[in-house]
Amino acid sequence: MSTYDNILGHEMIVRQLERARITGRVAHAYLFHGPEGIGKQLLALSFAQALNCSASSDVPCGTCASCMKISRYNHPDVRLVASEQYLVEAGLLEWEKGNPSAQIKNEQLEELSGLFRHRPYLGGVKVVVVVDAHLMNDHAQNRFLKTLEEPTEDTVIILVTAHPQSLLPTIRSRCQALSFAPLSRNVVVDFLVSRGQDEAKAQLIAAMAQGSLKRALQISDESVLEDRDDALEMVSRAVGGDLADVIRAGQEIGKGTGARQRLEQILDMMELWIRDVIVARIGLDSGYLVNGDRMEKISGPWVEADEMDLVTWLERVRQTRRSMRFNVNPGMALESLLLQMKGLA
Ligand SMILES: [Zn+2]
Repeated sequence: MSTYDNILGHEMIVRQLERARITGRVAHAYLFHGPEGIGKQLLALSFAQALNCSASSDVPCGTCASCMKISRYNHPDVRLVASEQYLVEAGLLEWEKGNPSAQIKNEQLEELSGLFRHRPYLGGVKVVVVVDAHLMNDHAQNRFLKTLEEPTEDTVIILVTAHPQSLLPTIRSRCQALSFAPLSRNVVVDFLVSRGQDEAKAQLIAAMAQGSLKRALQISDESVLEDRDDALEMVSRAVGGDLADVIRAGQEIGKGTGARQRLEQILDMMELWIRDVIVARIGLDSGYLVNGDRMEKISGPWVEADEMDLVTWLERVRQTRRSMRFNVNPGMALESLLLQMKGLA
């Protein structure tokens, strides 16, 4: 059994990478792009395993010394470059004081030059996987560009990102881009059911997760479904109520730790609600609704809006989500969005 078997979906991409490996036509640099939480990084690591695996069949075997080292992140020729924040959250970096950086730092890229100078220690292929490559600022990207322009032999660089448009065009053009699609709803449902979720709930969660396993797992954490009701209550109150309700909503979201995550969840939910209201308005089959069980409540705040307003609001929710990638204050971001919805900003 190959570790590719653990990858859900993306069959075409796996085939394409395998063909390149077997025919000796692996690119020097790849750009794996597509929504978050669908397995891009897992596939990048599996490909690193395939390039270094010592098994004769079922490559990447997942059990040889090299495959094991890669899955434990301690293979000398395979590096994961990611923000400190990511590494700390993934348990790959210990952190004691201060805030870990949310960006990929220049120093982290400089550390790679040693790797590029040496032949592979274990005789395979050196692989650098850059997680959330968009977290390199322009300066870091320019630096990285030099690396891409002078590819060293036996090195494969894989940039992984959900925001390829944040990379310099000169970086993108030097990579072979592989576009990852969201997973199908059935794949997500099967995944949840295999982890013990009951079918009906799995359907709802899969609809909310929009093809992302990461989101599906966050949502299947029971509290998110309860949070859906709380969030719905809060947004209805704020959109329908007065200024004090808006400010209260902002404060509720902004307080304590995990504010960004809470806001992101609320934005996800708002996006689905507005989408549902549009679906209901244009009279599509209720099978297309994600929140069919809460429609009355969901339509409430938007009862007087026409279709164009709804589309505008959908875009504003997305704008707010994009702005979250910069260091905006989550409470204030929600407040400003709600004020816009009330027509006060
Ligand atoms: Zn192996």
